[in-house]
Amino acid sequence: MPELPEVETIRKSLLELVKGEIITKVDVYWPKIIKRPADLLQFKESLQNEKITDIKRKGKFLIFELDHYSLVSHLRMEGKYGVYPAETEKDKHTHVIFHFESGHTLRYHDVRKFGTMHLFPKGEASYAMPLIQLGPDPFEVNYSLSTIYPKIKKSSRAIKNILLDQTVISGLGNIYVDETLFRSSIHPLRKGRTLTEEEVMVILQEAQATLAEAVEQGGTTIRSYVNSHGDIGMFQQELFVYGQTGSPCKKCGSEIEKFKLSNRGTHICPSCQRIS
Ligand SMILES: [Zn+2]
Repeated sequence: MPELPEVETIRKSLLELVKGEIITKVDVYWPKIIKRPADLLQFKESLQNEKITDIKRKGKFLIFELDHYSLVSHLRMEGKYGVYPAETEKDKHTHVIFHFESGHTLRYHDVRKFGTMHLFPKGEASYAMPLIQLGPDPFEVNYSLSTIYPKIKKSSRAIKNILLDQTVISGLGNIYVDETLFRSSIHPLRKGRTLTEEEVMVILQEAQATLAEAVEQGGTTIRSYVNSHGDIGMFQQELFVYGQTGSPCKKCGSEIEKFKLSNRGTHICPSCQRIS
């Protein structure tokens, strides 16, 4: 599943590839991906003659800004975008094709078909599902102790689950929550209400730093992943705990352990992250 840094890397790369393109036609081969409007014909007609002016991001959502509309896209498990010449044969996992005046096409490919697209008249996307439910993104101005600490303080859930809750902070997934908690020396099972303001401040800073480093790394790695077909691949930064089970902790040398929390693989250093 792409995490925020991958989505940000995809956003930047896609923007270079499609900014200024004018949509002439949209083909939809798997209508369930289009969640709004309910009428598929309306979706296709609305996009005709629209120019892609920008691509934004909130959490793990990509937002294609058009002349009169915003298209909110979530890749979910395995969604991918690629830019191809119009004559390229359609692959069986390609579910949406945006045809451009230039002769290029933007294709949405999704083996699992879990991805979603919502189209809104310009200015309305932030005030409706799915974006309205999202908490602040670590790169937004309202990402602060005063907006987030009260939500953590009143919760008796494990801090890891709170951080994964997109209504508290948007954009943190399993990998970066494990990394953030390690870097903050906080055990994932600590309950929200037991955390001090200082501890939450450290968590917020480490979450932002972890993501910023990953975005920076993705920005340099991504070029080698944009192949001749315009496919945009994923990268993997060096991680402290995620996927490091059995390896020595980079801070103290103890063995990194893995356990299940709410059915998710959770990675910790038992010495650096103590429960009490
Ligand atoms: Zn350690």
